[in-house]
Amino acid sequence: MGIYIVPQLSDNFAYLVVDDSSKEAAIVDCAEADKVIAAARAHGVKLTSVLTTHWHPDHSGGNEDIAAKIPGIHIYGARAEGGRIPALSNPVDDGGTVRIGKLEGRVIGIPAHTNGHVAYHFPALNAVFTGDTMFIGGCGRVFEGKAATMVESLARLAALPDSTAVYCGHEYTEKNLRFALTLEPNNLALRAKHDAAVKARAAGKWTVPSTIGDEKQINPFLRTDSAELRTSLKKIDPSLSDDRVALFAKARELKDRY
Ligand SMILES: [Zn+2]
Repeated sequence: MGIYIVPQLSDNFAYLVVDDSSKEAAIVDCAEADKVIAAARAHGVKLTSVLTTHWHPDHSGGNEDIAAKIPGIHIYGARAEGGRIPALSNPVDDGGTVRIGKLEGRVIGIPAHTNGHVAYHFPALNAVFTGDTMFIGGCGRVFEGKAATMVESLARLAALPDSTAVYCGHEYTEKNLRFALTLEPNNLALRAKHDAAVKARAAGKWTVPSTIGDEKQINPFLRTDSAELRTSLKKIDPSLSDDRVALFAKARELKDRY
């Protein structure tokens, strides 16, 4: 079993997920079909599925092309995206399952960035693919839902076991962690994660994956309970209460302008 990073466009990640027993593989998000097909060939696996996290073109723009080049490939994606996922052949819903050979993944509905955004959780790989909902040290912009929807979606991901590896949709880690440090400058775990990310990027390496346990310690959008984070936000906006959604929304608003 393996998970391989397939860089797409300028800072997108697609992931090749392989079932070793059958040598079947799926790609999580496809923007550039040719790169995905080349990666599958390099790893000697048969691409049978595309698992689309959400409709945005940098995550689904290669679907038509890959469907044309690999006839019969299954294109999974959320029914709740309302028909905006190109070449969708296998609509899924929250709680549904996807299969790659003998490997089984669970669909987790995590709306807010888009109305039908989903994550794919593979218990046997101890990994979750979070698209543009949870980033390392950050979260996606709230385009189609409300702040409360995003808080709930992030909580669903945070409820996975701490050891779960987090594979997100973009390499945004350094900037996310720089922003996070403006709110929690004394969070030592956050500082360490930031320093590790800077080092990794300087060495030309990716920062994925993180883990759910790490994210709970360093991701400001999961840390509305942190006293330091609350104090920082209230210093910026004294009208803020301890309401978690309001705290989240303020942090998100600050990040949008960061
Ligand atoms: Zn997106």
